[in-house]
Amino acid sequence: MDLFAYEGGTLRCEGVPVGDIAADVGTPTYVYSRGTLAEHLTRVRDAFAAVDPLICYSVKSCGNLAVLRALVDLGAGMDVVSGGELHRALAAGCPPERIVYAGVGKRDDEIAAALDAGIHLLNVESEQEFENIARIARARGTECRCALRINPDVDPKTHRHTTTGTKETKFGVDIERARAFFRTYGHDAHARLVGLHLHIGSPVYDTAPYVEAVRRALALRADLQREGFEVSVLDAGGGFAADYETGRSPAAADYAAAIVPLLEPAVRDGLRVVLEPGRSIAANAGILLTRVQYVKRSGDKRFAICDAGMNALLRPSHYDAFHFIWPAEPRAGSVPTRRAADPGVAGLEPCDVVGPLCETGDYLALDRALPVLERGDLLAVFTAGAYGMSMASRYNSSPLPAEVLVDGDRFSLVRRRETYADLVAHEG
Ligand SMILES: *Cc1c(COP(=O)(O)O)cnc(C)c1O
Repeated sequence: MDLFAYEGGTLRCEGVPVGDIAADVGTPTYVYSRGTLAEHLTRVRDAFAAVDPLICYSVKSCGNLAVLRALVDLGAGMDVVSGGELHRALAAGCPPERIVYAGVGKRDDEIAAALDAGIHLLNVESEQEFENIARIARARGTECRCALRINPDVDPKTHRHTTTGTKETKFGVDIERARAFFRTYGHDAHARLVGLHLHIGSPVYDTAPYVEAVRRALALRADLQREGFEVSVLDAGGGFAADYETGRSPAAADYAAAIVPLLEPAVRDGLRVVLEPGRSIAANAGILLTRVQYVKRSGDKRFAICDAGMNALLRPSHYDAFHFIWPAEPRAGSVPTRRAADPGVAGLEPCDVVGPLCETGDYLALDRALPVLERGDLLAVFTAGAYGMSMASRYNSSPLPAEVLVDGDRFSLVRRRETYADLVAHEG
């Protein structure tokens, strides 16, 4: 679900024609819908209401301050994976007691910043990291709450680049080592081991891996409690799929229906549940606007060469990801009926939608059925709110895109387009 729709032959974000945004701020530009962000946060909250989770939005999916502020205002916490993201979360006004921090390589200065801020939970990924956190907390005369990130060894059957909970990944510790971990570190006075954390991958198109992972975590918790350790937090991570118009994404309610019954008895017994959704909140809430610079044919092939490529949106080339693409101001009769590889419009022809970079892998879509395109046409790349701008690069000295947040019939520039001066500002 999202609030991007064709009305009167033109694409609107909520009440704003996206053509107006492109005319005002140029392209490439990310456009986010505040109403869509709110809707998806609400869906997760409502679906899991029976276990009243702390919902910590994953900053790495889309970390623009205005987006974070909107979600903080709606009551979300933040899941951060670096000192930079912690800085963003705090700058957006997120209360520290709603911030959780994971990451395999936390540096001393990042740990110190988290301790100084007094965040809710540090999710610890190795024995050495725990010892380091405990050492820094002791030296600063403070204490912090930690959860052990376990590796439940379930395969989420997603792309190998985004599988994070099998034994071969660098994340967390194997579930068999968790008991030894608690025996060794469970009584530390400065780094208090209060919970378990897991994050199995993303996007996970099936509820079964969650059921398996949560079952294993709860069984481990029961063992640990029997040994006298208090395990008062279970952070079940993120990874819920966004609706990339494939028709195979479960809704928040589907994931909840599978996991909530497992969690409920533990919650009655005092367990606090944390969730870390990113993609499922931000992906549908954003599009990327790009303008066709040139159309060219080589043999049978048609290319639409745009002003955005893998620099602006890496997902197609990095993850083989599908993003529906369509003209924002289509010529008469070519409004899509569905956002799929077959958009339900007659008379389409295959087209590679590519960027301007000097890389063959620089594309947004290959062999996509599209209507006639002309130089100057504005294209919308849908479901681009998550892992879009946050993975954008300046490769080929491309200034980063602008970002716009729409709220009803108003829009605001929430990150100005980079200039050439910005590109070289830190050099020389
Ligand atoms: C990336 C990440 C998330 C968010 O994943 P989504 O697929 O965006 O929901 C949550 N938790 C951790 C630890 C992560 O690394």
